[in-house]
Amino acid sequence: MLDFSFTPSQEEYRQALRELAREELLPRYAEGDAGTYPTEQILRINAFAEEFWRGREDEWDLIACGITAEEIARGDFNCVLPSLGRPYQSQLFSDFSEAQHARWTEELASGREMIALAITEPQAGSDMAQLAARAERSGDGWVIDGVKSSVSFLDAGVFYVFARSDPASSGWQGISGFLVPRDTPGLSSEPFEDLGCRAIRRGVLRLEGVRVPEDAMVGPPGTAFQRISRFFDVNRAIIGLKCTGAALQSVAETIEYTRKREAFGQPLTANQGITFPLAEGVTYLDHARLGCYRVLWMRQNGIPCRHEGAMVKWWAPKTAADVIHKCLTLHGHVGYSNQLPIEQRLRDVIGWQIGDGAEEVMKLLVARELMTGVATS
Ligand SMILES: Cc1cc2nc3c(=O)[nH]c(=O)nc-3n(C[C@H](O)[C@H](O)[C@H](O)COP(=O)(O)OP(=O)(O)OC[C@H]3O[C@@H](n4cnc5c(N)ncnc54)[C@H](O)[C@@H]3O)c2cc1C
Repeated sequence: MLDFSFTPSQEEYRQALRELAREELLPRYAEGDAGTYPTEQILRINAFAEEFWRGREDEWDLIACGITAEEIARGDFNCVLPSLGRPYQSQLFSDFSEAQHARWTEELASGREMIALAITEPQAGSDMAQLAARAERSGDGWVIDGVKSSVSFLDAGVFYVFARSDPASSGWQGISGFLVPRDTPGLSSEPFEDLGCRAIRRGVLRLEGVRVPEDAMVGPPGTAFQRISRFFDVNRAIIGLKCTGAALQSVAETIEYTRKREAFGQPLTANQGITFPLAEGVTYLDHARLGCYRVLWMRQNGIPCRHEGAMVKWWAPKTAADVIHKCLTLHGHVGYSNQLPIEQRLRDVIGWQIGDGAEEVMKLLVARELMTGVATS
C-alpha cells in the first residue's frame, strides 16, 4: 500500500524545524559565506533533534533525516550535513568498531566534532578506483602516504581516509578506510577558494608518513569501496533533499516578492510569464523530493536503491539549481545582489551537482543497471 504522509511525529518535527530554520538559521546564513563555520547553529539543531526524539527513538529514522536535510537547507544550506543525526550517521559509521564508536560517535552526533571524507585525489575523482594513496603495514599499525583533494570539512577533528592497503590489488579491491585524527603527525592541509559552500572549507589534504594504529582501520581490510558505495546510495537522496529544500525556500521568497512588486501598473504575478515558471519549478521539485524520500524509504526497508539514488543525485541538484536561477532572475536586479540569500543558495547548490558524484557518472550508474536488467525502464 502506498502512503505518502509523514507520521504525526515527523510532521510535528518538520513544522518545528521549519520555524527554527526561518527564525534562527536564515538570518545568519550569509555569515557562512564570509567563511564562518556555523558551529553554534549546528549544536542547536542537534540538541533540538536529540530532545525532540527522546523517548520515541524508533521513529527517528532515515525519513526524519530527510526532513532535517530539507528543512534545515531552507535556513542554512551549510548546516545540513553535520546536523543529520544518528540514523544518518549509522549509515556512515555502520562498520565502526566499539572503540571507534566510543571515541567519535557522541562527539559527531552532537556537532561538537566534524568528520571529513578523504577519497578524491588530484588524479582520481569519478574514477575512484584509480586512487593512489597507499597504506603500508608497519609494526602493529599502518603508514599512509598520499594526496587527497576536494576534502570538505577540512577543519574536521577526524579524517576518514581511503588508501590502498593491499599492494597486489587493483581497481575497487584492496582499498581500506582509516580514521585519522587531525593532530596525527604527517597531516597537512590547504584550503580552496570556493564558489559556494564557503562555510565548510574544502581543499587538499596531504598525508606524509602518517602512522596510525591497527584499530584505525574501519571494517575488514580491502572493503572500503563496497561500504562507501552503500552509504552513497543514501547520501545522494540526502543531498537531493537539501538542494530541493533550498530551492523551495527560494520559490516561497519569489512568490512573496512578485506578489508585491509592481510593473506596468500591476503586480508581477498578474503575468503567467511569472507564475508559470514557478508552477513548473514546484512541479519538478515535488517530483525530485518524492524520489529522494523513496530512496530513504527503500534503505529503511532494506531494499536495494543504487540506481534510484543515482537518479535523484543527478536530477534533484540540477532541478534545484535551475529553479533557484529562475527565482534569482524573477527578483530582477536585486536578486543578483547579496542583499538576498538567493545568489548564495545558487552558488551553494551548484557544488552538489558535482560533489558525491557528478551528473554524467550518476547516469552511468543508472545506465549500467538498465543495461544489465537490474533497473527496468
Ligand atoms: C562541493 C563539493 C564537495 C566535495 N566533497 C568531497 C569530500 O568531502 N570528499 C571527497 O573525497 N571528495 C569530495 N568532492 C569531490 C567529488 O566527489 C568529485 O569532484 C567528483 O566525484 C567528481 O570527480 P572530479 O572532480 O575529479 O571530476 P572528473 O572525474 O575529472 O570528471 C570531470 C567531468 O567529467 C565527467 N565524467 C567523468 N567520467 C565520465 C564518463 N565516463 N562519461 C561521461 N562523463 C564523465 C564527470 O561527470 C564530470 O562532469 C567534493 C566535490 C564538490 C564539488
